[in-house]
Amino acid sequence: MSDELYQEITLPTGLTFKQPIGLFINNEWIKSDSKFETLNPSTEEPIISVYEAGVKEVDLAVEAARNAQKEWRKVNPDDKGKMLLKLADLLEAKTDLFSQLEALDSGKPVESNAKADIFAVADYLRYCAGWADKIHGKMIPLAYNRFAITKRYPLVVGQIVPWNYPLSMSSWKFCPALACGCSIVIKSSEMTPLSLLLFADLVKEAGFHPGVFNVISGFGKIAGQHLAEHTGLDKIAFTGSTATGTKIMQSASSNLKSLSLECGGKSPLLVFDDADLEQAAKWASFGIMYNSGQNCTANSRVLVQESVYDKFLELFKKQVIEDWIVGDPFDKDVTLGPLINKAQYDKVKSYIGKGKAEGATLVLGDKDFKFPSKGYFVAPHIFGDCTQKMAIVQEEIFGPVVAVSKFKTEEEGVANANDTIYGLAAMLFSKDFERAHRVADLLDAGSVYINSSNDEDHKVPFGGFKMSGIGRELGENAIDLYTQTKSIYCNVGSKL
Ligand code: NAD
Repeated sequence: MSDELYQEITLPTGLTFKQPIGLFINNEWIKSDSKFETLNPSTEEPIISVYEAGVKEVDLAVEAARNAQKEWRKVNPDDKGKMLLKLADLLEAKTDLFSQLEALDSGKPVESNAKADIFAVADYLRYCAGWADKIHGKMIPLAYNRFAITKRYPLVVGQIVPWNYPLSMSSWKFCPALACGCSIVIKSSEMTPLSLLLFADLVKEAGFHPGVFNVISGFGKIAGQHLAEHTGLDKIAFTGSTATGTKIMQSASSNLKSLSLECGGKSPLLVFDDADLEQAAKWASFGIMYNSGQNCTANSRVLVQESVYDKFLELFKKQVIEDWIVGDPFDKDVTLGPLINKAQYDKVKSYIGKGKAEGATLVLGDKDFKFPSKGYFVAPHIFGDCTQKMAIVQEEIFGPVVAVSKFKTEEEGVANANDTIYGLAAMLFSKDFERAHRVADLLDAGSVYINSSNDEDHKVPFGGFKMSGIGRELGENAIDLYTQTKSIYCNVGSKL
């Protein structure tokens, strides 16, 4: 272990560890010609500098992943499953360290948020371990003494992830890919490189062959774009904004590589007049404010039927005040940390300004919460009396800001809910079983939650309609994303 490739970090709890700062290629740490800093969003201070991947290092990582396939393909799927199980155990044993590191690098409160991320990664590793020996094709009987078999083959994959769930969003990509026998190059967000680097050492310890799991830190326009364009890859999997998703789609066309995109959202939560309003207020509060609203499926729009609007708004306001304590992510009582960086802080603040300027009513905002003066903290904001054309109703803010509006009829509620470019998720509250399913069918969204919000499970497919994405992650669908099918025709006696 070269000290230049590891640097000591002492966390605010006093926990000290050695953070890898290199690029993880072929199970080795390497340096590059430049480094960049990652900042603590709670203090605005730098944490550490990590090595940055340029074009040369992306090429090295892709070459490593492609070469690894030759030997990795021969490894028994049972053994791949066991490695994933071991990886889950190794990670779980370090839950405190990983959750505190996520809190430091991304601002997630340790107790109420970051720990859940790490448990979720361990759970998904175990779920995908179960798939490793169940990836197989079909036998299709044909006429004239023939049949066909299909076989699934792994891919060499590039994966690009965002900062809002640094390790957890990465796991949605690397767990199924590894279970399918793929080799990968994964690029973290330049905002939050640390947890994925620390995790790479565990991958090696779990027994994965050199070149199967490569991690690069770097910027989107350099490392990200080169990875997406790389002709040495069979597939690119991306999670991030819709704007970047459209660029990735163009880059991926270089060699017609297969593509999956998980992009932005502006998810509506509909409250009907027959709903349990207290439950609706509780889920709506959780669904927009958790992770400081930096959630692709955040219910950032709440559409309430006219007759229950005032009552709901009163309950919602009370609930948000009760649920969210803004402050230092290492404080056990805190439930809402800072936004990721200055750019995100400025963007959210500018939408708050636009909401006021466009005539929405500020129901709850900064004056209702205490929060530190330093760091990128924004208090929960509720806007009432919103209308469809307002920017805070149409555009993804990605912060703790929610736009509440009224609708008269079920038809109008559904039409307004569907009236954005996005289609990632939608939520509805109604005690009427028939209405709930009728509306669920009509909502243009990849996931619909009836009487809940943002309680997704890794067994269930996830992805977007419209400009929220292409493809479905999680569940059995992830196996389709990370394999390609070959059809083999077999003639057992048909003569010409
Ligand atoms: P982003 O698009 O700015 O960046 C995401 C990743 O793409 C980063 O790793 C970045 O370095 C890289 N990147 C940027 N430009 C690139 C380019 N030209 N070529 C290749 N790579 C490039 O997104 P973000 O700000 O990190 O994340 C927030 C966004 O992610 C929000 O829009 C949110 O809705 C979305 N998101 C979606 C999901 C989902 O599952 N649908 C989940 C989480 C976040």
